Amino acid sequence: MTDIRLYNTRTRRKETFEPLDPANVRMYVCGPTVYDRAHLGNARPVVTFDVLFRLLRHVYGEDHVTYVRNFTDVDDKINAAARAMKDAGDPRSLVELIRERTDRTIGWYHADMDALGALRPSIRGEVTTKAEPRATEWIGAMISMIQGLLDRKNEDGVPFAYVEQGHVLFRVRAYKNYGALSGRSVDDMIAGARVEVAPFKEDPMDFVLWKPSDAELPGWDSPWGRGRPGWHIECSAMAHELLGESFDIHGGGIDLQFPHHENEIAQSCCAHPEGDFARVWMHNEMLQVEGKKMSKSLGNFFTVHQLLEQGIPGEVIRFVFLSTHYRKPMDWTAEKAREARGHLAAWHRLKRHALSEPDRKFTGKGVDPQVVEALADDLNTPLVFQRRLFELAKEAKLSFVDSPAVECFFETLAFLGFENLDVRRLELNESFKRASDIVELIQCKVAEIEAARATRDFETSDRIREGLKAAGVLVQISKDGVSWERGLDFDPAKLEALE
Ligand code: AMP
Ligand code: ZN
Repeated sequence: MTDIRLYNTRTRRKETFEPLDPANVRMYVCGPTVYDRAHLGNARPVVTFDVLFRLLRHVYGEDHVTYVRNFTDVDDKINAAARAMKDAGDPRSLVELIRERTDRTIGWYHADMDALGALRPSIRGEVTTKAEPRATEWIGAMISMIQGLLDRKNEDGVPFAYVEQGHVLFRVRAYKNYGALSGRSVDDMIAGARVEVAPFKEDPMDFVLWKPSDAELPGWDSPWGRGRPGWHIECSAMAHELLGESFDIHGGGIDLQFPHHENEIAQSCCAHPEGDFARVWMHNEMLQVEGKKMSKSLGNFFTVHQLLEQGIPGEVIRFVFLSTHYRKPMDWTAEKAREARGHLAAWHRLKRHALSEPDRKFTGKGVDPQVVEALADDLNTPLVFQRRLFELAKEAKLSFVDSPAVECFFETLAFLGFENLDVRRLELNESFKRASDIVELIQCKVAEIEAARATRDFETSDRIREGLKAAGVLVQISKDGVSWERGLDFDPAKLEALE
């Protein structure tokens, strides 16, 4: 079996991955707060952990991997968005507006992430809503976990949580290991963080497990009055319900390491001291804009949907992301997108020439072993997207139709999430074709002419030749074969119209 090595933020080194139960490898990734369209930065963890998910499925089998990614559908930002709609004159209640908004955002999220080629999370191969739990459907689990934290005490007899003014708070100083994930002490973290001081807190570091809701806001009955959960307890409770007290991998963006993940660990380890919570912690670095994290609050963001609307295929976004290692910050640039599009378009033209059935579907099962090996080394996607795929493409190009090299190349692309590439969309949208791509397109057409003539299909051969002529490409056919040259009226834009 392939040895997978993953960088564990908790131990700060690469470790050989040993699942607790190889028959059910379990991963939890923090999902989005659903009040608005996902920005491009939000897509980075989705693509990163999708690659890991695919690798785990390959190594352990599709029915032996569980991937849970939540939707945070109760949150102050969601409430604020709904309140703004109401203030703008919407007659519906806040609860109705929130439901509509979260439902709609989840629909957008699915559409955008599907376009990026990300598989939906699933439980041992079954795509179910349990693999994408909505926080509001697991409130009971959150309440019992909070109750457990109120009931339990540390080794000095100090309870892990307390109730104050309708709030329940986690007492950070009661948990001695707080900060272990980040490798920092509580005092260091206080110095560096914007912690909210509030009259109901014993200590500014303490964080909210439960807070009161007024009559208008979403709320659930609890032993502490009508209210709603804090953000951190949502993940701890859902992970516990769906993956158990100990599971294998917990992922998310590096911006979540503190406080969100420190708080998740504190809650889970204090409520369920028999378990380890997550064994491997993985964090993707940030997508940046001019050196700053892309974020809603900084306003320096654009959405995945906007890029798709501009005609940038999701596959291009995926390619650009995977060309950089997930633990490195990266910028999105138009130049990177242009290059990625060129490569993908070339590979899909190859599909038409190297396969007798270009529409054939690949499952990804026949993936190149070197690609698996690279991914098993802490997701070394740059090695794959900057080198190995080009070697495989070259081998496929030099080989005969439907050859093992051709199959391997397209199986590998499918494995990496490029199984449904739409060739026409990639080619025709390309208003900025590079010279080498143009040459490649013409060469493909010339190869099509040769293939047609070989089967005495002169009608097809003449049609392609006429099409090239209209674009200013002159094709000469002699007993030595087919050659071509650019005419004075050469117009690359007209090449785009060729099928
Ligand atoms: P949020 O909805 O803000 O909680 O974010 C959802 C996911 O996107 C989390 O895993 C974040 O860490 C991640 N994320 C947010 N901004 C960025 C960014 N600029 N680059 C990479 N990941 C991000
Ligand atoms: Zn989380």
